[in-house]
Amino acid sequence: MADSLLKVDETLCIACGACISTCPFGALSMGEITVVCDGNLCTGCGACVSSCPVSALSVPESTSAGTKGDAEWKDVFIFTEQADGKIHSITWELLGEARKLADSLGVKVGAILLGHNVSGLIPQLSERGADVVYTADRKELEHFQDERYAAAIIEIVKKHHPQIILCGATAIGRSLVSRVAVTVNAGLTADCTGLAIDPNTHNLLQTRPAFGGNIMAVIETPNHRPQMATVRPKVMKEAAVEPGRKGETVMLDLADAILKARTERIAWESTEGPTVNISEANIIVSGGRGMQKPENFAILEELAETIGAGVGASRAAVDAGWIPYAHQVGQTGKTVCPSIYIACGISGQIQHLAGMGTSDVIVAINKDPEAPVFGVATYGIVGDALKIVPMLTAAFRKRLAK
Ligand SMILES: Cc1cc2nc3c(=O)[nH]c(=O)nc-3n(C[C@H](O)[C@H](O)[C@H](O)COP(=O)(O)OP(=O)(O)OC[C@H]3O[C@@H](n4cnc5c(N)ncnc54)[C@H](O)[C@@H]3O)c2cc1C
Repeated sequence: MADSLLKVDETLCIACGACISTCPFGALSMGEITVVCDGNLCTGCGACVSSCPVSALSVPESTSAGTKGDAEWKDVFIFTEQADGKIHSITWELLGEARKLADSLGVKVGAILLGHNVSGLIPQLSERGADVVYTADRKELEHFQDERYAAAIIEIVKKHHPQIILCGATAIGRSLVSRVAVTVNAGLTADCTGLAIDPNTHNLLQTRPAFGGNIMAVIETPNHRPQMATVRPKVMKEAAVEPGRKGETVMLDLADAILKARTERIAWESTEGPTVNISEANIIVSGGRGMQKPENFAILEELAETIGAGVGASRAAVDAGWIPYAHQVGQTGKTVCPSIYIACGISGQIQHLAGMGTSDVIVAINKDPEAPVFGVATYGIVGDALKIVPMLTAAFRKRLAK
């Protein structure tokens, strides 16, 4: 049997068996004299510890890279998401948040920048508040590839000891930091909507929706470093630009072996249509089940193209196969915060509102005057979206032509 993360103190264990049923992984069983723990099954979660009436069970602090040690884990780092020489706006939101956290802790903000021919991006990071840019410029890092990028960040963690790492809760961020967190034995809180520093413990307080968005949970990682969190795009404010602000640059020396990967990118095919990506869109025209059939999304696309908007959708429309998942707004889709959100034939269930409720102006078109969406709408139009949307398109075209 492999060594277990759980320690059973044989001098204390009275073999009462009270702990056995508390293990979610079935790792505990009765041995000849005491309870025994199967190291292949035990995850060290500690769920059994409090069930022992004689305190014979414990999960010792790990001695691996992720254990908290006071002084050595210092700055607040963010991961710079970039593609083809353009930095994704989530990076500015992360820098804005990192600045606040670093100032509360009296430490520096570090930005991790990986890629090829990316040195031109360094001043942009400094001007948005990065004190130090940790960068590696390698052909192997030209395109995002989770194995290589994760390996590079793990090296950075080992050498530079950030106490916090923030990453976007984007497709890239989600696939990247989970790999890093497991390897460095750190905690990871996904999809945070709020971050703060506990003034007493100096731990990161990570707020995120839980139980279907019905409560906001505040999560701490008291014993392990770095504290890692992904942050939903368009929830936090972007760091302001301070023209001419300078920072330090640290060139990372990554061994070839670190950048070996089992997969290669062989082609890139974009699924984007003529309308704007909703993560970036300043205006979104969104459709729900009330649009009645997939063909009717064409009238939303026409309106979106006319006013330079992106097309969003409720989960009902996505589940019906009317529009791809990339357009879904809500708890299990994208969080958006455009200047204007036009909801057409969307009832406004809590899971949808979770993804668009912070939009500056919400226009709801629904034929049911009691639809919950009117509760959050700035402007409500009670009527048939199939008739109203083409009228809006015609009116905008006329107005914009002037
Ligand atoms: C764990 C979980 C996660 C979820 N995640 C998401 C998520 O990320 N995003 C999301 O959207 N949902 C999500 N849902 C589903 C959510 O609960 C709702 O079922 C969904 O949002 C409903 O979509 P809808 O408003 O398009 O459809 P409905 O609720 O069926 O509403 C259709 C609306 O269209 C109106 N209507 C009908 N015909 C017309 C017309 N001709 N003109 C104008 N109005 C018309 C109706 O009056 C009605 O209000 C989630 C649910 C769960 C349980």
